[in-house]
Amino acid sequence: MKPISVTIDTSALMANFKRIKQMTPDSRHIAVVKANAYGHGLVRVAKVLESLTDAFAVSRIDEAEILRQAGIRSPIVLLEGFFNASDVNTISKLDLYTAVHDLFQARAISAADIDKPVHCWVQVDIGMHRLGSNDPKEIAQIKSVLENTQNAVKPLGLISHLSVADTPSENEYNEKEINNFFDIVRDLGFDGDLCLGNSAGICRWDRSHTTWVRPGIIMYGISPFEDNTGRDLGLTPVMTLKSSIIAIHKLKKGDKVGYGAAFVAPRDTVLGVVSAGYGDGYPRTAQNGTPVLVNGRIVPTAGHVCMDMLFVDLGPDARDQVGDPVELWGPDLPVEHVASHAGTIPYELVCRIMPRVEVSYI
Ligand SMILES: *Cc1c(COP(=O)(O)O)cnc(C)c1O
Repeated sequence: MKPISVTIDTSALMANFKRIKQMTPDSRHIAVVKANAYGHGLVRVAKVLESLTDAFAVSRIDEAEILRQAGIRSPIVLLEGFFNASDVNTISKLDLYTAVHDLFQARAISAADIDKPVHCWVQVDIGMHRLGSNDPKEIAQIKSVLENTQNAVKPLGLISHLSVADTPSENEYNEKEINNFFDIVRDLGFDGDLCLGNSAGICRWDRSHTTWVRPGIIMYGISPFEDNTGRDLGLTPVMTLKSSIIAIHKLKKGDKVGYGAAFVAPRDTVLGVVSAGYGDGYPRTAQNGTPVLVNGRIVPTAGHVCMDMLFVDLGPDARDQVGDPVELWGPDLPVEHVASHAGTIPYELVCRIMPRVEVSYI
C-alpha cells in the first residue's frame, strides 16, 4: 500500500496537445512548462511533447538550463526575460528566446559580448499591468535599442498576456486588451512574430490565435475557466493524486473530528482516515465536504486537513476497508472541483505537489 502517489498519463498529455493544435491550426505552439510543468515534471513532460510542440516556455533561466541539460533542442522562451545583465551570455549560449519587458533588458542585450544573436520578443502591457510598458514612446525606445544592435535577431517579435480571457464579466475589457495589442503592432510597426493567446485565449478568443500561442493549463487536461472542467473542453486530466485509507472508525452522532473539532458528526457514521495531507500538497483550506473518490463513489472530507492525513465521512452504511484506494483528484474527480472547495484554482493545486510524493509516468 502506497500512502500517496501521483501518476502522470503521458498519452493524455499527447492527446491534449493534439487537441490544442486542432483548436489553433494556424498558430505555432509554445508548450508552457514553467513551475516543474505545473507540477507534472519538467523534463518528463518536455520529452513527451518534444515531437509535437514547436517550442517550450519557462519563467526562469534555470528551468531552461535543466531542459538543455536534458537534451531538449527546441526553442525555449523566457517569459519574464532575465534578471541580471550577465544572463544574456547564457541566453545566447543556450540559444534561448527571451521576452524583453524593459529598457534595462534591451540595453543589457545591446551591451553584451556574445557570438550568437538572441531571439527577442518585446513584451508589452495591454491591460494587466504586470510586465512590459503600455507607453508607446517607451515601447518605441526598447524597440529601437534592439533594432540597432547586432545582438538581437530581426525582425523582433511582440509578446503580451491576456489577464481576463477566462472572466466572462470582463469580456469587454478582454476585447480592449486584444485591440491594444493589434494597435501596438500597427502603430509601432512590428513585423515579426506575434505571441498572445494563453489557454483561455485559445479556448475562447480566436483573435488571440497569433503566430504563436502559449497553452499551459489545458495541456494538463485542466480548464482555465471557473464554470467548467477539462472534459468539457475535450481534454483529459493528466495528473492523478492517489492515496489510501489507513484507519476506519465508527462515529456516534455529535462526535468531534480532528484539530479544532472542525467536524461534528451530524449522525452516526463511519469515518475514514486517508494518508494525504498538506505536507503532500493537498490543500489545508479544503472545506468540510470537499469531494474525495472512494471505491467508486464521492464522499465528503470531514474536519481540517492535517499535515499527513485527512478525514472522510464514509457514510453510515460504509463497507470500505483499510487499504482501499482513494482518488483525491484525477480523471474521475476533477481537480477543478477540489480547487473550488478549497478556495483556490486548480493551477495552484497541481503546482504545489510536495517532493515527498512519488511520481510515476504511464
Ligand atoms: C503561465 C503563462 C502562460 C500559460 O497560461 P495558462 O493559463 O496556463 O495557459 C502563458 N503566458 C504567460 C506569459 C504565462 O506566464
